[in-house]
Amino acid sequence: MDRIYMDNAATTGTDARVLEKMLPYFTAVYGNASSIHSFGREARKAVENARRQVAAAIGANPNEIYFTAGGSESDNFALKGAFDSRKGKGFHLITSAVEHHAILHTAEYLEKRGARVTYLPVDEFGRVSVGDVKNAIADDTRLISVMLANNEVGTLEPVKEIGKLTKERGILFHTDAVQAIGAVPVDVNEIGCDMLSLSGHKFHGPKGVGAIYIRSGVRLENLIHGGAQERGKRAGTENVPAIVGLGEAITLAVSEMPEISARIAKMRDRLIGEILRNIPETRLNGHPTERLPGNVNISFEGIEGEALLLSLDLQGIAGSSGSACTSGSLDPSHVLLAMGLRHETAHGSLRLSLGRDNTEEEVTKVLAALDVIVKRLRAMSPIWNCRRA
Ligand SMILES: *Cc1c(COP(=O)(O)O)cnc(C)c1O
Repeated sequence: MDRIYMDNAATTGTDARVLEKMLPYFTAVYGNASSIHSFGREARKAVENARRQVAAAIGANPNEIYFTAGGSESDNFALKGAFDSRKGKGFHLITSAVEHHAILHTAEYLEKRGARVTYLPVDEFGRVSVGDVKNAIADDTRLISVMLANNEVGTLEPVKEIGKLTKERGILFHTDAVQAIGAVPVDVNEIGCDMLSLSGHKFHGPKGVGAIYIRSGVRLENLIHGGAQERGKRAGTENVPAIVGLGEAITLAVSEMPEISARIAKMRDRLIGEILRNIPETRLNGHPTERLPGNVNISFEGIEGEALLLSLDLQGIAGSSGSACTSGSLDPSHVLLAMGLRHETAHGSLRLSLGRDNTEEEVTKVLAALDVIVKRLRAMSPIWNCRRA
């Protein structure tokens, strides 16, 4: 059975061209990038080349890029680093209710350490209001962290407006751009952010490697202490193969974005259009237009998201649901609840995240499978049948 992968927001496969660039750095070029001999210098050259690639992809200077072990570490570094270097005179953090857990759980941790945190609400489309950001700013506001694009519902946040505001007020601005790289244009100066997180495995790079952009002149306390790697800001022997892969992947992702995003958006619109038209009592979650090209998030009334996922999986179709089943709980998604969905509606949601390897033929197959599965699950659902009666 040919399987269909529509869970590209969770992770993507490493591009063969990326892997090819990485391979020599596992074997032939294994030097420690901090060593001064020729083995070390070869590795150093590769790391600095990747740093230039990452910088070029987001409009930064290479000396503003620090490699990390992924999006979660970059998010932790931004928040904890800002807190640890500024907590003296009170620390107010403004973030949104729809952030990734790498931000939300870090914010909760900082609350335990004495930070004051405002979790901004969002509208029915999952968007933060710039007016709310403005109103939340107080004398002790040190950091604002709002994501560029939401990983569950694909909504693009008004980061440029927030960037303008924070610049006027002299407040640090961090954005989690993990979902945005390779999907929409990302330029740190256009956004006006001071810090930005990105992660290799979300754009066909390897897992376990990411980067944080830190605007030149911004002080951040270290997250990981030890050796002097990454100009003293992030200790630990560099993961050279992964860093090489990150650099190559972001270069490819950004150069191929116009063509791929347009193709993916067409499939997204077809999926959304046909599901809403052909299956009754469905609704689109997230913004109708200001959304990632690959994100489809739909609620099906009377359906358990988990049951829908398992039925799709039996047919070789990989999607994801709004429930945080991975954390062992069946709590509905914090993002959908923040958007005002009822618990039952949030439970019956499905995310299909398209990637560059998806085809129109696969979209046709998924649409057909959904039609049959939703009818069958609803026929078995007591809630659905009560409501009908
Ligand atoms: C995946 C993701 C992360 C975490 O990145 P990892 O590299 O998996 O740690 C953070 N934020 C967003 C928005 C994500 O989608």
